[in-house]
Amino acid sequence: MDVSVPKPVPLGIAPHAPTRYPPAMKLLPFDTLPAYKPRRLLPAAMDLGDWSQIRPLFDQLEQRAARCASAADLESWLLDWSELSAALDEESSKRYIAMTCHTDDAGAEKAYLHFVEHIEPQLKPRQFELAKIYIAHRLRPQLASPRFHVFDRDTKNQLDLFRPESVPLETEEAKLSQQYQKLSGSLTVRFRGEEKTLVQMGRYLEEPDRVLRQEAWELVANRRLQEADKFEEIFDQMLELRWQIATQAGFENYRDYAFRRLGRFDYLPADCEQFHDAVEREILPVVRELQAERRRQLKLDTLRPWDLAVDPLNRPPLKPFANVDDMVSRTQQIFNRLDGELSAGFQRMQDLKLLDLANRKGKAPGGYQSTLAEARLPFIFMNAVGLQRDVETILHEAGHAFHALATRGEDLYAYRSAPIEFCEVASMSMELLGNEFIEAFYNPADANRARRTHLEGIAGIFPWIATVDAFQHWIYTHPGHTRLERSDTWVKLMERFGGEVDWGGCEAARASLWHRQLHIFIHPFYYIEYGIAQLGALQVWAHSKRDKARALKDYKKALELGGSRPLPELFEAAGCRFEFDGATIQPLVGLLREELAKL
Ligand SMILES: [Zn+2]
Repeated sequence: MDVSVPKPVPLGIAPHAPTRYPPAMKLLPFDTLPAYKPRRLLPAAMDLGDWSQIRPLFDQLEQRAARCASAADLESWLLDWSELSAALDEESSKRYIAMTCHTDDAGAEKAYLHFVEHIEPQLKPRQFELAKIYIAHRLRPQLASPRFHVFDRDTKNQLDLFRPESVPLETEEAKLSQQYQKLSGSLTVRFRGEEKTLVQMGRYLEEPDRVLRQEAWELVANRRLQEADKFEEIFDQMLELRWQIATQAGFENYRDYAFRRLGRFDYLPADCEQFHDAVEREILPVVRELQAERRRQLKLDTLRPWDLAVDPLNRPPLKPFANVDDMVSRTQQIFNRLDGELSAGFQRMQDLKLLDLANRKGKAPGGYQSTLAEARLPFIFMNAVGLQRDVETILHEAGHAFHALATRGEDLYAYRSAPIEFCEVASMSMELLGNEFIEAFYNPADANRARRTHLEGIAGIFPWIATVDAFQHWIYTHPGHTRLERSDTWVKLMERFGGEVDWGGCEAARASLWHRQLHIFIHPFYYIEYGIAQLGALQVWAHSKRDKARALKDYKKALELGGSRPLPELFEAAGCRFEFDGATIQPLVGLLREELAKL
């Protein structure tokens, strides 16, 4: 996962001036960062958590736009706007990092919330105003093309979709999202005398004892079923709001609105349907074979929902490293073998202390990569505990970090990040490329076991992505559907994409399994991106099997483009096709099979 949320601190943070950190800033894992460039618009020392200091900069930009006399003036104005946006983004990121690294520090939380509650709401209308001024600017057509094509397209899209009357609806929608998260997060079960969250219950599905697994799985499923009506109720209200938002923006249905809202200019609903068909035809047979093999290894007649996460040979978990320093130095070894430039990038992150990787008390859960947008440097946060999953996470997040490092030379802030469909190509490719050298962590047998788990995970995720995506296409093109029709549709999709799993006796749990998928509630339509990106990553990997040096060169070149080109061009630069059809997927499935057969 990667999140780029900026967060701030109460301070006078000026990367190029002598800095006096406010107390919360001392909580950052890193020291003062080297400035990428001297500031032009912003004072060297200013408090980016103080709106009275920020406001005059927006005023200045608004006034100056009218005085631009040439395309060069307008371009320079854009770069100043970029500087301001990047500094604010970095401020927010720093506050977020300080808070997630120290959840037990009240000052850090306060500093972050101050930015979210008092700065961001003020920023939004001012950023929107600058976007309007820019799009309407008489000199804009004189700016170099295709340099500004993507920026103009995205900025205009944002303006086109905005409806003031939808703002209160979006606030309602955000509240419902919060309700969903609160409900999901509040659920606990009593298991063997102890109260456990549903997340904590996940690990029992990896236990060799099948009776225990079944008990754990059923407890969780039944706990969720008790709340099924509440989940449905929240979702029905969300549907109603989304329908109104789409209609107010002039769309026939929410699907078409969401495609625009997500900036999907390069693929259509029909392409997603083609993806679903291709997954069914090309990938599902492999998934079925893997499931059958798992069933045989576990010596079972049928595979039940609680048999999917356990090691099929009942081996204890892999132990890739002893502590986080050990993990970092072994990861560094992988990059040393992979590529000199990437290796130097990861070393630099260590030198600048841009990594906070160990699990410890007082740290938020999960992992993310965040970019310090003004210093143009990446930061990685995770909670390593010594599992193979941690190795996958560090490789994944390092891929995002390499992306951030690759775009440092780009002065337009918006172009320093790519669309998510390509961001995840950067990270997922790094998992595959890094795994080629995973002997840095393991003896040869364990290395192959780790690779196998990874590749099985890749094969298995495609049908789930197709299920979740197809479900949402149906939901948002069938207004007025009933809850029963909705769950029937879901069950049919589970039958289409679920493979060999026997759900006998668990039909009710299966019919509402989608309640677990946060994206369906909170980030509608945002999911197929992972499938698109995984296809890209598999192509990068296939490419590297043929010509490693060339594949890495293309990969790095594509990363360097950031978000400056449309998606198909980013894929093409990485040596990939931006297609989701059978012709693209077939050879990748062939490679997966071939590699799995070796492991
Ligand atoms: Zn990611």
